[in-house]
Amino acid sequence: MSWIKTTDMKSAINLAKFFINKSEFNIQKVLQVPIIVNKEDFDNKDIELKMFHHANEYNIAFYYIAIAINQNIPQKEVQLQPSYKSNLSDTIAIQKELSNQGRCLHYQANNQCNEIIKAHSLQKKGILQKIARKGKIYSLSSSLGNITKNNGKITLKETGINKFSIFKGFCKKHDNELFSPIDNYDLDINNSEQFFLYSYRALSKEVFHKQNALNLYKQELEKRRDSQVLSSFISNNLKGIKIGYNSLIHHKNIYDNILNTKNYTDIRYISFNSTQPLSLAFSSVLYPQYDFFGNLLQDLSNNTIKFDLFSFSSAPTKEGWSFIFSWHKSSDKSCFKFIKSIQGMLYQGHNLNDILFRFVIKSCENIAFSPIFWELLTPIEQDEVSNVITSINNPFTDTIDDYLQKDLTGISKWVFSKVNSSFIL
Ligand SMILES: [Zn+2]
Repeated sequence: MSWIKTTDMKSAINLAKFFINKSEFNIQKVLQVPIIVNKEDFDNKDIELKMFHHANEYNIAFYYIAIAINQNIPQKEVQLQPSYKSNLSDTIAIQKELSNQGRCLHYQANNQCNEIIKAHSLQKKGILQKIARKGKIYSLSSSLGNITKNNGKITLKETGINKFSIFKGFCKKHDNELFSPIDNYDLDINNSEQFFLYSYRALSKEVFHKQNALNLYKQELEKRRDSQVLSSFISNNLKGIKIGYNSLIHHKNIYDNILNTKNYTDIRYISFNSTQPLSLAFSSVLYPQYDFFGNLLQDLSNNTIKFDLFSFSSAPTKEGWSFIFSWHKSSDKSCFKFIKSIQGMLYQGHNLNDILFRFVIKSCENIAFSPIFWELLTPIEQDEVSNVITSINNPFTDTIDDYLQKDLTGISKWVFSKVNSSFIL
C-alpha cells in the first residue's frame, strides 16, 4: 500500500511503481487505482493513519504486507532499509562542474576561442534589464534545496539578473560578433536575420545543456551499476536524451550553414506584437509533439526520424515586445500545423494571451518574470502558475496530448495588437 501527497493523480501511480521497484519488489498486478483519501478515512486504523501522517510530512509512505506460507510465523512489523542512498549533493556538484566547463559552439570555433565568457542566453543588458527591478527578476526555484523546502513544489524566487540563465557556450569574440544585431537593437518584425539569431542562441543553449546532461547521466550510470532498477531508470533517460540530441545536432548543422552563407530566406517566423511593456523574458527550442487540440504532430519516440524543431522567445521592440516563433523550412510540416492550431483555438473563442502564456509556462524552464508583473498577480494566480510548473516538471508525469488546451486562463493580461509573419497560413 502506498500513500502519496500530490495534486496530480496520474503521476502518483508512476511514482509509486518507481519506488516499489527501487525496493526490489516486482509488481504483478495493481489491485487498486489511486483514490483520494482524507485523515477521516483512517479513523480507528492505527497503521494506515500513521502512514497517512508520514506521507503528509514526507510526501510518500509505503506499507508492505507479507503473507507467510507457514501460518505459524508470528506477526511482526519491521522497518525496511533502503538498498540505495541517493546522494543529490554529489549529482548537483557534477552538474555545476559540467556547466562551468565553457566551450565555444560557434561554427568557426578554433583555438582562439579561449576567452570563454559567461555568455548569457538571454542578453543581460537588453531584455533582462528591461524587466528587472533594482537588478532583480523572479525565476524558478530550480535548486533542489529550494524544492525540498517547499515540499516538492517549484516556486518563484527573486534572483539577480547576473545569476540568471548563464551558459558558457560562446567565446567573447564570437558572442559579441554574432549577437550584436539582437543585443544592441530592438527587434524589427520584418528582419529575418534577427529572428534567426534568436533561434540560433536558443538552439546553441539547448545543445550545450544536452551535452552536459549526457555527460552527467553517463557518470551517474557508472556509479549506479550495482542497482538494477536505478541503472535501468538512468539508461532509459540517457537513451531519450541521446535521441533528442541527435536531432538537435542535425538542426545545429543547418543553422551553422545559414550563418556561414548569411542567407536567411529559409527561416520562417511569426511574431505576436504587443505595445505593453515586456513582462517575461524567455527563449527556448521545442520539438512540437502535440498541437493545441491534442493532435499528434510527430512521434518523439521514433529514433529513425529527425524531429521538427522551432524556437520561441520574447523580444523587445520599439513599441513594446513580441512573442516570436521561428524555424527552418525543413521543419515546416509540424510547425505550420502547430501555428494553425493557434488560429483554430482563436476561432473557438480562446484568447490569444491565454494561449501563448499557457504555452510558454508549460514549455520553458528558462523564464524570467518582471517583479512588477509577478507581484501584481493574486496569491491564487501565483499558486496556479507554480502548480502548473511543478506538475509539468515532474519526471513521473507523462505528457498528455491536450496539455495545451486548458489552465492559466485570465492570468497574463497580455494584449496583442498585431500579428506579423514571413508566410501566409
Ligand atoms: Zn569562439
